[in-house]
Amino acid sequence: MLTSDRLRIVLAASEAVPFSKTGGLADVSMALARALDALGHSVTVIVPDYRQLRLAKQDQLPVVTDSGLRFSISMHGRYVTGGVNWTFLPETGIKVLLISQSDYFDRPQLYMEDGQGYQDNCARFCFFSRAVLEVCQQMVLRPDIIHCNDWQTGLIPALLHSQFAGRPAFENAASVMTLHNMAFQGRYWQPDMLLTGMDARYFNMHHMESWGDLNLLKTGISFADQITTVSPTYAQEVCTPEGGEGLDTLLSYRSDDLVGILNGIDTSIWNPASDAHLPAVYSAKEIQPGKGVCKSALQERMGLPQRDRAPLFGMVSRMSDQKGFDLVAECASRLLLDDIQIAFLGTGDPRYEDYLQHLAIENPSRVAVSIGFDEGLAHQIEAGADCFLMPSRFEPCGLNQMYSLRYGTLPIVRRIGGLADSVVDVQSESLRTGVATGFVFDDYTSPQLAETVERAVELYRQPNVWEQVMKNGMSADWSWQNSARRYVETYRRALERRHDRGADNRQ
Ligand code: ADP
Repeated sequence: MLTSDRLRIVLAASEAVPFSKTGGLADVSMALARALDALGHSVTVIVPDYRQLRLAKQDQLPVVTDSGLRFSISMHGRYVTGGVNWTFLPETGIKVLLISQSDYFDRPQLYMEDGQGYQDNCARFCFFSRAVLEVCQQMVLRPDIIHCNDWQTGLIPALLHSQFAGRPAFENAASVMTLHNMAFQGRYWQPDMLLTGMDARYFNMHHMESWGDLNLLKTGISFADQITTVSPTYAQEVCTPEGGEGLDTLLSYRSDDLVGILNGIDTSIWNPASDAHLPAVYSAKEIQPGKGVCKSALQERMGLPQRDRAPLFGMVSRMSDQKGFDLVAECASRLLLDDIQIAFLGTGDPRYEDYLQHLAIENPSRVAVSIGFDEGLAHQIEAGADCFLMPSRFEPCGLNQMYSLRYGTLPIVRRIGGLADSVVDVQSESLRTGVATGFVFDDYTSPQLAETVERAVELYRQPNVWEQVMKNGMSADWSWQNSARRYVETYRRALERRHDRGADNRQ
């Protein structure tokens, strides 16, 4: 690669594995960084230093050092000082900068406790966004691209466009804003504009304001040079009133700068042939006995009878309205008429946690629930289950269905967002052509979910066909390499846009 082709990319996110994680964003940010690094680009990841969480799992992390750098940001007339801890990810050139600010980030959780978001989330992530640019400047990173992710970093493109625009550190910097989930927008009351460091004149419907509130996701969309969503179908959905969550008009207006790129998965972590969380490994070439061992170990761990003939359904998810738990609840009694088992892992809305715990108490030999966040168990469910449930109301990309495909666990999904882009329904034609990989339904209704589960149970009784469908999914390429190349194309388009913007400003 020529040096001129090598981009200096700063990837800013509110979470990244192995340092912090509540959902897919954490996997995506680090896996994309790794794939870009492998393509020869220079990548720096910047995340908050949730110190308490980091120290809790210190033995699993690379050594983190204090850079000695300190900076102060005026937050609503009060100076708040932060620092930078840093590390390299082993076996890569990726530098990870952890923005430390103990009042904001040294907490038991990332965004909320007991179902309640932290009161000062706006201040925390305005501080983080502003810190990203301060640190880029002070550490002379001179980025070509600042890749922002979700509302927590939505302020960055706006700052880059305004007060940071003329600074030498950002002469050539373009911004890319990735929308991982439109349901979370970072909406706060108008007085919080004072936390952004932006001029009050930007509080208008074309820039930072939406329905009378400050909206940090809208801010990112308005100012970014390019916008991406995490699947092609979701890129279309966000331009509709149903999928745009109030920002569809703006996104339609910016549709020339909007592209959907399906996430990949980190195949070094999610690989049934080498996964250290599993009691046995397996591959598309040799599925058994490994997968069977994983199934009976999972049944044992979850307290279910070790029956290899009973189809075992798994679900690993944030327990929220988005993920289709209401559908599962509505049709649970119908599903349990069949001789199936279901293993749930998740945490979130206490309504769903309580409901599933009751369901398990009432059906101890059929339903098992683990409430909490457990990386190892998530891997064991992906491997040990026969089918994976993902009946989401909406799903920008979704990672679990791709993990499932790779682990030979047939996903049951709704035809929306990234689920539509990654799972091919079992039909006679798709079976004949060897592309069927799972079960897909259209309407968000419990009868449709129940019928689809019943279709799966029926196919499970034809082991040869079932195995072929497993193999179809297991042999597909879900690695990040293709997606990373598409991001690089998007970065180059962002730089062109940035260049045009610079030319316009000079006229
Ligand atoms: P989302 O980002 O909307 O939560 P995704 O499917 O994109 O959904 O990603 C979810 C990620 O979080 C997956 O890696 C999944 O395995 C993981 N995950 C979700 N809940 C849990 C849990 N309770 N324990 C372990 N991992 C979980």
